[in-house]
Amino acid sequence: MRPARALIDLAALRHNYRLARELGGARALAVVKADAYGHGALRCAQALEGEADGFAVACLEEALELREAGIRAPILLLEGFFEADELALIERHGLWCAVHASWQLEAIERTPLAQPLTFWLKLDSGMHRVGFAPADYRVAHARLAASGKAAKIVAMSHFARADELGCPRVAEQLAQFAAATGGLAAEFSLRNSPALLGWPQLFRRGQDGEWLRPGIMLYGATPFEQHQEQAARLRPVMTLESKIISVRELSAGEPVGYGARFVSPRPTRVGVVALGYADGYPRHAPDGTPVAVDGRPARLIGRVSMDMLTVDLTDLPLAGLGSRVELWGAEVPAGAVAAAAGTIAYQLFCNVRRVARSWRD
Ligand SMILES: *Cc1c(COP(=O)(O)O)cnc(C)c1O
Repeated sequence: MRPARALIDLAALRHNYRLARELGGARALAVVKADAYGHGALRCAQALEGEADGFAVACLEEALELREAGIRAPILLLEGFFEADELALIERHGLWCAVHASWQLEAIERTPLAQPLTFWLKLDSGMHRVGFAPADYRVAHARLAASGKAAKIVAMSHFARADELGCPRVAEQLAQFAAATGGLAAEFSLRNSPALLGWPQLFRRGQDGEWLRPGIMLYGATPFEQHQEQAARLRPVMTLESKIISVRELSAGEPVGYGARFVSPRPTRVGVVALGYADGYPRHAPDGTPVAVDGRPARLIGRVSMDMLTVDLTDLPLAGLGSRVELWGAEVPAGAVAAAAGTIAYQLFCNVRRVARSWRD
């Protein structure tokens, strides 16, 4: 069997969830959209059930996968519905529903419901993507309340730059939120992973009505580019690994792989790893991107192919055919690979495919 695989450590997931709740001092919806950032939404939700206050997903389809598999906890649709007829299923499955646009509000007003639902009314506090503008928020809130369709309205917004430690926009968005929603809703939700980890000074701990929305931190990756004390307490959940399936001894001046991007500056031992961009490893990862071979630091050389990539074994004489190669995990932080490849760990995780996934409790 092809040795490329992703191992998912569910104990680490639970550790990270507990850390999120402890740091934020509030209830937390575990964000498991996009198949739990590539970690398997159902397996992750099952691992957190009985512990998590609820889950958040991007859309109805993702919520139904969890409901149909027996997940009973609250599930929030972060973008609400895309078409009005989804409201019937939202009601039937008891889902919580974000409302971020006036067309959604109008659809709620005209759709008959047997029972009122929990809505999360979104404010655009500065990200300028979705949500009601501050000037329109109170009217939207009043309309939703008057519609008779809302059992509860939670005020929510989303930070655009909380991953930039020290960025003044975070406090500005928070002030905008406080001004626009003040006095309206007893329950509110603002904090994603970077806000939760990096901005404790802006939030009072143990605010009764707060809901946290941790995503990437549950999977053990830091949202920050630099070292951050709380993020350093996270445990990586996914290990992406494979094996060396071929070894080449090259003299100096020989090319490796497509386009001869890498040319050996010295006699070089090249290890060929059974994992490539079709498995989700970034094709644009440059020479020098970190990997670990049998637990030792090594580096990528040459262009990543669809099914294989190549690493430098010259300084690892004991490594060879069959050696274990970690692409990311406990030995190689996903954030380090992401930084080298000019992307973020979020995208690396979401892209993982084809490899055998297994889950350990
Ligand atoms: C994805 C998402 C989150 C989680 O963000 P992380 O940065 O992964 O913690 C929280 N809130 C909303 C609205 C989201 O879309």
